[in-house]
Amino acid sequence: MGGLKKKVAIRTFGCQMNVADSEQMARVLAADYVLTDRPEEADLLLINTCAIRRKSEEKVLSLLGRLKAFKKRRPGLIIGVGGCVAQQEGERLLKAIPHLDLVFGTHGIYRLPELVKRAEQERTVDIGLSSCFPEAPGHEWPAGRVQTLVTIMQGCNNFCSFCVVPYVRGREFSREPADIEAEVKSFLAAGGKEVTLLGQNVNSYGRGLAEPVTFMELVRRLAALPGLARLRFATSHPKDLSDELIESFGELPALCEHLHLPVQSGSDRILKAMNRRYTREHYLDKVGRLKQVCPELNLSTDLIVGFPGETEEDFQDTLALMREAGFGQSFSFKYSPRPNTRAAEFPDQVPEPVKAERLRRLQAVQDELTLAAHRRLLGQVKEVLVEGPSKKSAGQLCGRLRTNQVVNFTGPQELAGRLAMVEITEAHPHSLKGRWVQEAPAR
Ligand code: SF4
Repeated sequence: MGGLKKKVAIRTFGCQMNVADSEQMARVLAADYVLTDRPEEADLLLINTCAIRRKSEEKVLSLLGRLKAFKKRRPGLIIGVGGCVAQQEGERLLKAIPHLDLVFGTHGIYRLPELVKRAEQERTVDIGLSSCFPEAPGHEWPAGRVQTLVTIMQGCNNFCSFCVVPYVRGREFSREPADIEAEVKSFLAAGGKEVTLLGQNVNSYGRGLAEPVTFMELVRRLAALPGLARLRFATSHPKDLSDELIESFGELPALCEHLHLPVQSGSDRILKAMNRRYTREHYLDKVGRLKQVCPELNLSTDLIVGFPGETEEDFQDTLALMREAGFGQSFSFKYSPRPNTRAAEFPDQVPEPVKAERLRRLQAVQDELTLAAHRRLLGQVKEVLVEGPSKKSAGQLCGRLRTNQVVNFTGPQELAGRLAMVEITEAHPHSLKGRWVQEAPAR
């Protein structure tokens, strides 16, 4: 059957939500297309874009420019652009790039089979937003797949003043819990072990469902499924992180000791201008309680430097908060004005060299914190979910701790896809090294 099908290559920019969306694109097209990682042999080339920062948008536009020669060599090739840049630009993108055949928005994924057929006849744009999840196609899980991303909600109602998400992904709506549970069960039945629940703001899961279910109820239901060794979720808004969810880190064995909790800034003045609706005190209070119930918790975060009006003093508040919260990892960026957002109009935009210099200082603090956290693991024997051969160290295996750090280690190759106990022997700035001890006890 596969021989009769055409080939689709998908290039993904941006966050985990986009990774999950790209997988969904491959699934909805599976009746007619097989996935290839070689764009030169594809009949359909899809680019899933991110508009969260100007830099990622620029990368997409530069890639699209380079595809002109590609299309010239293979005129039958269909090139489509989806995701947040497509949603934001729509028709403008089609006008600006003559070799583009299809522009589809963040909610157009499920209509892809029909949109691609239309694009074979005429250049096509579809950026309509919906307010519910369509029925997902059944899954055929690839052999050996042990981790997966499961989208549970879409959109955001928060309107942080720097963020395009509410404009390009629409308002929040949640997926039916029964559909989520069915997807997780089918993954576990195929041998899966780790699930990450995804949404722009998972803590407000449940809005708009016929029978409201809270995020905590969903987590409890999934955490109880036999065979689920690890459960994670992202992203959480600090203002919506409930006391019950905080407590659950000490209670639910499947819930991993890792939480991504974006703080963005350590200055109350900047948090207010960002419309984040919490203060540094509230944030640190939640961190304190999380660490009380789960001392091993590894906290990661997102940080923006050079938000309009950010002074050196505000920036120092951010550095101090990083140390106080003890982030094990952070994703940090220079602020860039985004279309439609309020902050793009704010006065006192911070000059580029100041942003660059602050980013360097902030990342140096993070490197120090990450290395210190890695060093605390030295000599400990930890559970690792083995993903497969290491890409960095030949002959070694690679996996992740429950606390989300990457470990490369020596051990039998047949451990791939299994849980193993590994002694941490070396701490590096971005990863750990270890030595296999034994298989992990069954959960
Ligand atoms: S919570 Fe704020 S930063 Fe996160 S997606 Fe919503 S608007 Fe954007």
